[in-house]
Formats: sequence, structure tokens, C-alpha cells
Amino acid sequence: MLNEAEERLKQYFGYERFLEGQEQIIEKVLQHKKVMGIMPTGGGKSICYQIPSLLQQGITIVISPLISLMKDQVDEVREAGISATFINSSLSHEETMNRMAGLQNGEYCLLYLAPERLGHTEFLKQLKHISVSLIAIDEAHCLSQWGHDFRPSYMDIPKFLDFVGEDVAVLALTATATPQVATDICQALSIPDENVVKTGFARKNLTFSVVKGQDRDAYILDYVKKHRGQPGIIYATTRKEVERLHQRLEKENIQTEKYHGGMGSEERASGQERFVYDEVDVMVATTAFGMGINKSNVRFVIHAQMPRNIESYYQEAGRAGRDGAESDCVLLFAPQDIQTHQFLIDQSRLDDHRKENEYQKLRQMVNYCHTEDCLQNQILSYFGDAAKEPCGTCLHCTDTRSLQDVTRDAQMVFSCVKRMRERYGKTLVTQVLTGSSNQKIRQFRLHTLSTYGLLKKQPQKNVTEFIDFLVAHEYLMLSDGAYPVLKLTNRALDVLQGKTEVLKKETIVAKTISNEDPL
Ligand code: ADP
Ligand code: ZN
Repeated sequence: MLNEAEERLKQYFGYERFLEGQEQIIEKVLQHKKVMGIMPTGGGKSICYQIPSLLQQGITIVISPLISLMKDQVDEVREAGISATFINSSLSHEETMNRMAGLQNGEYCLLYLAPERLGHTEFLKQLKHISVSLIAIDEAHCLSQWGHDFRPSYMDIPKFLDFVGEDVAVLALTATATPQVATDICQALSIPDENVVKTGFARKNLTFSVVKGQDRDAYILDYVKKHRGQPGIIYATTRKEVERLHQRLEKENIQTEKYHGGMGSEERASGQERFVYDEVDVMVATTAFGMGINKSNVRFVIHAQMPRNIESYYQEAGRAGRDGAESDCVLLFAPQDIQTHQFLIDQSRLDDHRKENEYQKLRQMVNYCHTEDCLQNQILSYFGDAAKEPCGTCLHCTDTRSLQDVTRDAQMVFSCVKRMRERYGKTLVTQVLTGSSNQKIRQFRLHTLSTYGLLKKQPQKNVTEFIDFLVAHEYLMLSDGAYPVLKLTNRALDVLQGKTEVLKKETIVAKTISNEDPL
């Protein structure tokens, strides 16, 4: 069967060999197993169900959350010569009936299906007359409450799998699954551990940087001007911000398109098309842009604000360099980004447990912005990839500043946190260390602590940044909740006892943009 799979790969797609993970997945699918494939964006997930759909009698159903993209997806596989169709709410009843009849008559190998359809009794009744050999679940992380994109309609999938029966193969696919999310998916779909196929998550051609303490607009303008002629995406958090940045760039005679949910669908589509077909270099967009967009030559992705978690960040940044060529992923960080996300989580209708989960993810995103370790590795370890060699190309790996011994300063911070009985947040700890005097300090009698004013000579901003660094490097941790308090970890206790030292790069200087002329 595997030889045949390889033949189909050549015949339909023109590829000589499988990419990492594809063969393993396809082999298990052809044995009617329940399988999960975790591969990065651009890793070649679609072929893992498209090839089996050509080799098996029954149809392959692909459950996909992206209704707006289904038509394009189907057009694409049809171009490769695979008979495919889709069913979602955009079709009339009559058209849906036609397609169901076509499926019964064996006219299609592949059916792309919106998850909402799984609960329709009429659909299920008709499906009884159709032989199904594989159910593929795209964006499987939507199934997990702990994922970054939970979709309630995905909760119908386990019941649906029971409905189609045991001998139908199942393939859950995702590019972003933390270990917790992966476990969740496996449990919901009864996928045994040995059938989880996970390929490396590293994207070697991506260079990650975090830029702090710089004027964002100035940075973006400078960057885009220095990279004229190169396609890139600039992500902003809000529609308003997209409009503003777009105008700003246009004013500088930089041709850009914009994309956000507040625009009409035609305007959005035409802008997207101009970007995809290289008629314009820069796209300024909210995160609504990019899902399923197959533009391989994106040379940079700049986040004008910090995203809400690392899953979203890696997915969005990962849209750069799908062709394998060197590309930049720059995150512009400012402390107010944290407050924006805290506010959004707070205002959301999530229950307390899920809110807590969101805060936790946000904290890890913030740690990414404050770490001095390899940025690529920081992301990989978030997704449970074992620690590897530093990437060698990210901002921190190429940072030549020398390390300073900051053990004494760290000890002062730790003893202050301890004296404050691990009951206060970053702001108050900073104020005590720098010897500020205000009503809160007096009210809690914090000015009487022996650690009061220990770092008096330092500006508050430096002390706050130093605490951020200590949190990012896991000497300190922030407790759960909307008003997190600082606590000591075992690493900090070791430092207090003089067992280990703390090293830090001299001062935080943002990476300067290379002046190399793009060829
Ligand atoms: P994903 O869904 O994992 O992001 P895709 O399925 O869209 O990735 O595949 C990404 C790109 O890799 C596509 O252009 C696809 O044609 C290509 N690709 C897939 N499998 C192979 C292969 N075996 N050899 C070469 N290219 C491949
Ligand atoms: Zn690195």
C-alpha cells in the first residue's frame, strides 16, 4: 500500500518523496487506525488525508472550521485531479442534496464538511448510505477547551465518530498543540499514545526578534522601507490600529493593503488578492487575515502588538517563509499590550476556569517577550519539544553583549518579595525596592521593611524590567488571577542561599535592522 501511496504522490502532486511524518501517518490511516498528526504550518498535513482518499474505497470526510476557505480548498485539490466537493451552510438545500447524491454514486473521493453539519439528523440519515473510510479533522486543536481557538461545534465530533463506526480511520491534524491540548484531543477521540505522530516544530528559516522600548511606528516604517520589494504582513490587534497603520504607511508612499473584519467582503477579497498575487508588498491586518492563505514568499511578519498567546503568535509568525527561504518574525512589545489582553480576557464570557487558562497563556507570552534565551527554543518548549541547541539566528542567539553577574541585585529583589510575604504584585514590590512613598505603602506599613529602598538608586522602570526578566527566567512566578502576586521559585531560593548566580545581558538594546540590500 505504501508503494502505491508514493506513486500517487508523484502522479497527483509531482513530489518525489514524503516529508517528515507523512508516510508514518498515511501508513496508520491505511490500517484504519485513529491517528493524530502534529506538524508545523507548511509541514504538509493535507497530503496525509488526500493520498489515502485516493487509495480507499469509501470517501474521506475532512472536517474543517474554515467555511470561507472550503471552496478554495476544494478547487485546489480538484486542480491536482482529485474529485472533491464540500458541504456547508453557504449551499442551498437543493445543491446540498445534489452533492449528497453524487457522494452516494461514488463521484467524489473527498468531502470537506463544516462541523456544524455533524448535528443535522437529515445529513446523518443520508450518510448511512455512503461508505466512509476516513474522517480527517483539520485544526483539531479547536476541539480542546484549553486550545487557543476552541469551537463548540467541534464537540459534536466524538459522537459523530461513534455514529460512523469503529472501522473508520480517524486523523486529527493540528499545527499548534501544547502537551495539554494534545492529551485532550487524544482523549476525546480515543487516539492511543502510540498513534500520535509529531514532527519537529522548528522553522529553521525563521529569525525571531522581540523589540522593546522603541517607537513602534518609526520601527515599522524604517523596517518596511529597508525591505522594499519584499512581501510582508503587519499584524495589529484592533481594526482601528490597522486603519491607522495603513494610513501611516500610505502617507510615506508605501503601497499597502489592509484587511479586517469591519471591511466589506469584496474589499477584503480584492486586497487579499492583490497581496497574494504580488501586486502589493505589504498587508496590514488583524489576525482575521491569513488562515489558509497560501502565499509562500512572505519575507516578514511584524506584530505591531503582542498577541494573546504563543499558539496564536507561532501560527501567525509562521506564515512567513513557507517557501523555506530566510524570513523575519518581529514582535514589537510594549507593557500596555498586557493590559489590553487582560482587559479582553476579563470582559470575555469565559467561565473562571477558562479565564485562568487564558491568563496563564498570556503570562507565557509575556515571558517570551522578556526572556534572554533563544526565542525559537522558548516557543518549542512551550509546545513540549525537548530542549535543543539554540537556533543560532534569533535576536538573542546573535546578541553579542556580554553577561553581567547580577546575583546581588537579584538577591535583593528576592528577599524583598519574601519580606512582603509573597502577597504583592510587581508594582508594589518595585515601589518598595526603590523606596517610593505613597498611601498604599504607608497603609500596609511597607516602608518599615528592611528591604525598603534597597534599589533606591535605580529608576523604577529598570527595576520593573529586571523583575520581568526574573519572571521570564523562572526565578519568580506570578500567581494566577487578574491581580497576580510575585512568588519565589526554587531557583530563587538557590540564589538566595548562594548556590547559583544570576547572569544577565548588560542592558536591553533593541536589534537594529540590517542594512543589507535585498537582492
Ligand atoms: P499545512 O497544512 O501543514 O500547513 P500543506 O498541506 O498546505 O501544509 O502543505 C504545505 C506545502 O508543502 C504545500 O505547498 C504542499 O504542496 C507541499 N508539500 C506537501 N507534501 C509535500 C512533499 N511530500 N514534498 C514536497 N512538498 C510537499
Ligand atoms: Zn535562537
